[in-house]
Amino acid sequence: MVSFAVALAAAGAVIAGGAPGSAGPLPDAAAAQPGPTYVYKVHAPLGQQSQDLLGRGFDVLEQRDGDSLFVLGGKDEGTRLQQAGFTAVVDQVLAPPQWTPPAKKSQVDAADINETFYGGYHTVNAHYAHLDAVAAQYPSLTTLVDYGDSWKKTQGAGGYDLRAICITKLNAGDCALDPNAPKPRFFVMGQLHARELTTGDVAWRWIDHLTSGYGTDASVTALLDSTEVWVVPQANPDGVNIVQQGGNSPIYQRKNANGTNGSNCGGSASSQLGIDLNRNTSSHWGGQGTSSAPCDQTYKGPSANSEVETQALQSLWRSLYKDKRGTAPGDAAPADTTGVVVSMHSYSNLILFPWGYDSTQKAGNDAPLRKMGTDLQAIAGSGWTSGQPGEVLYNAAGATDDWVYDDLGVASFVWEIGPSSGSCSGFFPTYSCQAGTFWPKVKPMLTYAADKAAGPYATTTPPPTGCDTRTNDTDVAIPDNGAAVTSTITIADCTGNASATSQVEVHVKHTYRGDLVLDLVASDGSSYRLKSSNNDSGDNIDTTYTANLSSELRNGDWKLKVQDVASQDVGNIDTWSLTV
Ligand SMILES: [Zn+2]
Repeated sequence: MVSFAVALAAAGAVIAGGAPGSAGPLPDAAAAQPGPTYVYKVHAPLGQQSQDLLGRGFDVLEQRDGDSLFVLGGKDEGTRLQQAGFTAVVDQVLAPPQWTPPAKKSQVDAADINETFYGGYHTVNAHYAHLDAVAAQYPSLTTLVDYGDSWKKTQGAGGYDLRAICITKLNAGDCALDPNAPKPRFFVMGQLHARELTTGDVAWRWIDHLTSGYGTDASVTALLDSTEVWVVPQANPDGVNIVQQGGNSPIYQRKNANGTNGSNCGGSASSQLGIDLNRNTSSHWGGQGTSSAPCDQTYKGPSANSEVETQALQSLWRSLYKDKRGTAPGDAAPADTTGVVVSMHSYSNLILFPWGYDSTQKAGNDAPLRKMGTDLQAIAGSGWTSGQPGEVLYNAAGATDDWVYDDLGVASFVWEIGPSSGSCSGFFPTYSCQAGTFWPKVKPMLTYAADKAAGPYATTTPPPTGCDTRTNDTDVAIPDNGAAVTSTITIADCTGNASATSQVEVHVKHTYRGDLVLDLVASDGSSYRLKSSNNDSGDNIDTTYTANLSSELRNGDWKLKVQDVASQDVGNIDTWSLTV
C-alpha cells in the first residue's frame, strides 16, 4: 500500500477527486464497505489523549508510532477527528473494494481446504477442512474439540462451530476437558479480531509444523511428548466470514457478527456491527479503552461476557487450567503454575501482557511475565517492543489475556504481529509475506512460549550452597579378613539429586589392596560398588571413582564401606572425599 502523509486540508482535495470504485452486488448486508478507506495518523501520546481517542469510538488500530496512533475510517473520519480536537493527517488511502466473494456453502467438505481469498488466505471452511485433514492423518497426535457455536449459528443463520485442535503424543488423560490432565498446556489462537489475517495463517502453519515434525524434528518431538498444544485458528469465524466476502479486497471487520445492538451501523470501517471480543470478557469489563456505542470497533457489548464466542472461550479455558491465583490485582500465581496462553493479533510488533486494563497496576507475576516478554522480543528481532498495553500502546479493559491471568493465573500474552510500515505492514499483507516474513519469525516465538508452558513462573534454580567437596580424614582401622568398616560424610544444604558423574576420591593404606572391597552407601541404604577384590598385590589405594548417584538426594549421610576379604594383610582408611 502506498503511504501518503498529506495534511488534512490538502487531503480533502485528494479525497474529493478520487473516484470511488464500483461496489457491485453486495453479498451480505453486514459486509457492506462502500468507498475507499483511509488510515489517519493522529497525535495521541501515551496516557489521557490515547484513552480519549479510544473512548470516542474511533477505530484505533493496534499500532503506535511515537506519539501517534492510527485511525481507520471513511472520508468523513478526518473531519470527525478534527471536530473532536485531534490533529490528524492522512497516512494511507486504501483501495476501494471489488467484490469477489467465495462461494457460500452450507457445510464444510474436504475440497474446501483449497478455498482461499486475497491471494492465498484461507477461508473459515478451509481452516476447518484443514483441521479435519490433519486429525485424519495424525490420529495419535490430535484431538478435535468443538467448544461452542458462533453467534450466527446460535441464531440459525448460518454460522460456524467453534473449533480447537489439541496436539500432543496422546496418552491416557491427554487433551481431556479437565484441568487436572497430566501435561502442561500451551494455548494459541488466531483471528479473534477477524481482519487480522496473519494470525490465522500462522495458526495453520503451526499446526502443520507440529504434526509433520513429530518424530523427525527433535524439538517438536520433545514438546509433544511433554506438553499439550491447543490451537484455535479461527476464534471469531463469523467475523472472518464477513472479511473473506471482500475477496481480493477483504472487509475490515474486526468484531463478531452479532447485530442485535448495531443493526443500523453503516458498514464502513468506522461503523460496523458486532461486539469487540477482545473487550467483552468479564475481567474489568467496561474499563478504559472500551466503547459503549454498538457501531464502534471497541464496543464492549451489552454486558460482561455477553457474547457466545467469549463465553465459549472462557468456559474452555476453565476446563483446561486450574485456578491458581487470588482475586487482588497484585496476587501472584505460585511458581509451580503451568500453562501459557497467546492471543495473536496484528499488527505493530508488540508483545503485551497483563494488566491491560490499567498499566499502573502490576501483575503479581510481573517479573516473570516481563522476562518472557523481553525474551520473546529478542527472539522476534529488531523493531519489536514488549510491555503492558498501557506502557506501549494504550490501556484496554476486558481483553482475553487479562481474563486468563485474572481468572486462572495462567501466563497470558497478546502478540501484535507485523510491522507498521513496509510491504508486509497492515491487516492485509501480501500473502507471500506469510511464508517469507511472518512464519520464520513467529515459529521460534511459538516454540519458546510452548516450551515455557511447563513452568512460566518457575525461577531459575540458584546454584546450591553446601555442595563443595567434603572430606573425612579420620583414620578407620580395617580388620584382617573381618567385618566391613565405614567412614561417614554428611552433606546438608545441598538440595537436589546427586550427579550422574559423582566423584569419590579414596586413599587407603594397605599392604595387599587386592584383599579389599569398596562400596559407597547412600543414606537410603543403596550401595554402589567402587572396587571388587582381586589378585592385585600392590600397596594402598589412591583412586578417584566415578559413580552415577543421580537417583540419590545429595543431602544425607554417605558412607565409604571397606571390607578385607582375605587374611594376612591389614591397613586403614586414611582419608576420602566426596563430590556429589
Ligand atoms: Zn487485534
